[in-house]
Amino acid sequence: MPARKGTTSAGGIDTLMTEKRKFKPSTKFTAQANGKKSLYTTANKDYVKFWEDMASELVWKKKWREGLKWKAPDAKWFVGGKLNVTESCLDRHIHNGRKNKAALIWEGEPGSHRTLTYFELYRQVNKFANVLKMLGIKKGDRVAIYLPMIPELMVSTLACARIGAIHSVVFGGFSPESLRDRINDLGAKLLITADGGYRRGQIVPLKHDADVALHDCPTVEDVVIVKRGDFLLRFKEGRDHWFHRLMQEADAYCPPVYVDAEHPLFVLYTSGTTGKPKGIVHTTGGYLTGVYATTKYVFDLKEDDVFWCTADVGWVTGHSYLVYGPTANGATQVMYEGAPDWPDQDRFWEIVEDYGVSVFYTAPTAIRAFMKWGKHWPGRHDLSSLRLLGTVGEPINPEAWMWYHEVIGNKRCPIVDTWWQTETGHIMITPLPGVTATKPGSATLPFPGIEMKILDDDGKEVKNGGGYLAITRPWPGMLRGIWGDRKRFVETYWSKWDGIYFPGDGAKVDSEKYLWVLGRVDDVINTAGHRISTMEVESALVEHEAVVEAAVVGVPHELKGEALAVFVTLAGDLELDQKLRARLKDFVARKIGAIARPEQLIFAPDLPKTRSGKIMRRLLKDIATGKVLGDTTTLADPDVLYQIKAHYEED
Ligand code: ATP
Ligand code: MG
Repeated sequence: MPARKGTTSAGGIDTLMTEKRKFKPSTKFTAQANGKKSLYTTANKDYVKFWEDMASELVWKKKWREGLKWKAPDAKWFVGGKLNVTESCLDRHIHNGRKNKAALIWEGEPGSHRTLTYFELYRQVNKFANVLKMLGIKKGDRVAIYLPMIPELMVSTLACARIGAIHSVVFGGFSPESLRDRINDLGAKLLITADGGYRRGQIVPLKHDADVALHDCPTVEDVVIVKRGDFLLRFKEGRDHWFHRLMQEADAYCPPVYVDAEHPLFVLYTSGTTGKPKGIVHTTGGYLTGVYATTKYVFDLKEDDVFWCTADVGWVTGHSYLVYGPTANGATQVMYEGAPDWPDQDRFWEIVEDYGVSVFYTAPTAIRAFMKWGKHWPGRHDLSSLRLLGTVGEPINPEAWMWYHEVIGNKRCPIVDTWWQTETGHIMITPLPGVTATKPGSATLPFPGIEMKILDDDGKEVKNGGGYLAITRPWPGMLRGIWGDRKRFVETYWSKWDGIYFPGDGAKVDSEKYLWVLGRVDDVINTAGHRISTMEVESALVEHEAVVEAAVVGVPHELKGEALAVFVTLAGDLELDQKLRARLKDFVARKIGAIARPEQLIFAPDLPKTRSGKIMRRLLKDIATGKVLGDTTTLADPDVLYQIKAHYEED
């Protein structure tokens, strides 16, 4: 059991939990690991040189003159360098012995599967790049992509990169309004979509939704439609084109368009957990260097690994650790179209077994769902091919970490808990497998070359305790701005301290310099003079056998300033009666202290989450304080909110 003790206050946030468990890497893993301890020392000596060394492992048309030009908040990496990312991700593999290696093993939700070798992927990308050119797309033009998780999604993004067009992927589950807003924000000229897609056995009518969006998108001149099924659609002559028809006419080779290292590669909108999504701009040379190096060392990829990152390409995780990172490393990877519980709750484990997945990367929300479904589902499958596990997206509760370690990893696989954001482009805090000892709930240490600190409001460093997470020197994959909104860029990330990046998250640091991300600063609760992070209270609750998931928000309180209101999802058919309420309140008080004793417990059949699976506490707070609901456009299932509201009003 983890030990918990009273509060130590520092910086801006109290720390309530002390997790004592620690897992050292096995000597066997260490012996074969890509990462070595010396990476930290080398990187610390000269971090710009470290990243330059990483960049030299990629293909450049023209070498850079200067590693970094930095005038906060503007960074230029690999100044004067010219490249095309697809040469690192495709061309070099064709010529260096990976021509017939599987690049992508794709499985559709209804069951079909396709394997694309590097050569096949290369040919598709070249052809589609020619299609884009035929449709008048040029370097710098914006192309919106609204596709299911099918190989053409990867082909489309890489084809844009081949000709220097800027892609913007909009998650296929978003509504017509969300698609419209993103297209118009960017002034996209072309939309790539599909007739439809599959999700949980249902058909997602992508083209229909795209048509609704396009009523109001004056900049879009053409639409390319991938035929995924036999779905009905309206075809607008002159504007709409079938992907397969265009591909038949296209030449098989498209010379890469070389761009400046600082040329924008893509714009991607954040998840919208805290408010209106921001269009984050990423550029070419630095971004590729960051995702290439982190993929190599964090996921420890070897020639015969099978890597599976379960994220949708609609999120940054899918960009960095599906499209760009693994291909830049010449890896074999799995891509899956559908839901983890279709047709049964062991679909993921079936895929792991069928393709011999060895490195698996998913999100805490998925892990908590697997826990809820029960260990008999993974128990039905041979998971012995797995050798490394990863997680990203939210703080992982120590209980969920332990479950992942024991049930999925069979206690043999290191876990990399990776902290990063759409804005950072690539992993920033992470263990190096084979090097770093892990602690459940801690993302551990900054990646080599990255410098991060915990600061207080005045920018003073907190050496042991809680405060704000801060990135104190530039990194190659850093965002170069918010599309069309310089003011929001400066205000959101660069105005808290001078020349230091503020990610918006709270964290604590322990005596071994390990970092523990505590969640968003916006979610911190001020109660009776203490500043409490939602993460610690939620993690304590999840440890109780009756609780599957929990979300904590602050509500105004006469004496304490704020009190804790807790929304809980319960195991099985349990009812939140008076007895259980009292037990849960006592449980929290005992685990982490009386100041964290919840004032209110509210039953939630499910929690409101973004479409990328993150808990949207701000909407729960709106319910608990009787406010009008804020931006709900990124909410996965609006029904959940109404159900919770009904329970709240009953209480
Ligand atoms: P928005 O910025 O629109 O509110 P978002 O922050 O959820 O949305 P993302 O960029 O997808 O959008 O998510 C990044 C955030 O996710 C981080 O700032 C952090 O709060 C959380 N996060 C990601 N990985 C981890 C992790 N390993 N541990 C803790 N928190 C994490
Ligand atoms: Mg964010």
